[in-house]
Amino acid sequence: MNILVTGGLGFIGSHTVVELLSAGHTPIIVDNLVNSKLEVLNRIQKITGVRPAFTELDVADEAALDKVFEKQPIDAVIHFAGLKAVGESVGKPLEYYSNNLCSTLTLLRCMKKHGTKNLIFSSSATVYGVPPSLPIKEEFPLGETTNPYGTSKAMIERILTDFSKANPDFNIALLRYFNPIGAHASGELGEDPNGIPNNLMPYITQVAVGRRDHLTVFGDDYETPDGTCVRDYIHVVDLAIGHVMTLKKLMENPGLVIYNLGTGKGSSVFEVLAAFEKGTGVKIPYVVGPRRAGDLPFLYANCDKAYKELGYKATRTVEDACRDAYAFQKKNPNGIQ
Ligand code: NAD
Ligand code: UDP
Repeated sequence: MNILVTGGLGFIGSHTVVELLSAGHTPIIVDNLVNSKLEVLNRIQKITGVRPAFTELDVADEAALDKVFEKQPIDAVIHFAGLKAVGESVGKPLEYYSNNLCSTLTLLRCMKKHGTKNLIFSSSATVYGVPPSLPIKEEFPLGETTNPYGTSKAMIERILTDFSKANPDFNIALLRYFNPIGAHASGELGEDPNGIPNNLMPYITQVAVGRRDHLTVFGDDYETPDGTCVRDYIHVVDLAIGHVMTLKKLMENPGLVIYNLGTGKGSSVFEVLAAFEKGTGVKIPYVVGPRRAGDLPFLYANCDKAYKELGYKATRTVEDACRDAYAFQKKNPNGIQ
């Protein structure tokens, strides 16, 4: 199938493009390069032997997006494009709401106009807010979001739900990702954040290659077994495969569907550091600092629904993800240039 991948040169998008190609699909990438490099296209070609079609555009630019839809029939869209830095979103709410919401609205208008009726949206576990219990199930109510990034995801879920009610012939999957980490096993693709990483794994790999001195563990006095926060870390290649399996589901005309994509298993920050050392032989120096505002002690998914309905199960371990993320960082010490 011809699959339009918005944000297809980003971290999760690029890995998904590789998995789409290996499943026999034809990805068509659009990205405005606001948080990625054109070099990623070369890397995809190096891994797969195929150079997918690419157009540099802002998804909110309706005329430009329209032209992409006019070029060839598009069977489905995977919508990764969006701004994603939680901290930055607090200082730049207008940029976050404008980019994330306008790109989605424009995309929906173009899809409607061109008769493309299958959409996968990148949502996040952040929409659950403080969950009533653990593990987190899809039927839990949406919680209070605490930053414009998270709120933009909750708003888009709402928009897509309303759109789906008004357009029952559309098939829409809201995929709520837990914590994507890792990299492609080739070391050619991986996570390459701008500036000081906010997220745990890129921070660790930058310490591992000597770009940063040490990790600060944000609190070791939580009500968890070792005092550090527990998250559900999913290898980015497993996450990418989840999108390919969701596409198959959309072909059954399910209407609106929601799936958690995680592993169902929580790991603490100290457990991630131990897995990193085991997988790479590198011991990460750290200091324990104060808690980070807004962090919850436990967050992990119940993944039964994706297993039952998609036959989907993540198979890679946190140790695999540490090894792959480190290999990528070693090969690309300053990120993808
Ligand atoms: P990323 O920043 O690496 O990729 C997003 C891509 O979209 C980038 O290449 C960027 O240049 C592009 N982009 C942004 N706005 C655009 C626009 N208006 N038009 C065209 N291109 C645009 O992020 P990622 O980690 O790959 O995340 C992909 C999606 O998954 C995002 O929507 C993100 O919010 C969501 N998500 C990510 C995580 C995570 O931890 N990485 C967790 C939950 C959800
Ligand atoms: N974390 C940390 N030090 C860092 C970055 C993150 O101790 O430099 C912890 C953070 O408190 C959380 C976990 O690592 O418990 C995962 O954080 P991340 O920002 O990667 O994901 P989140 O679950 O917050 O979206």
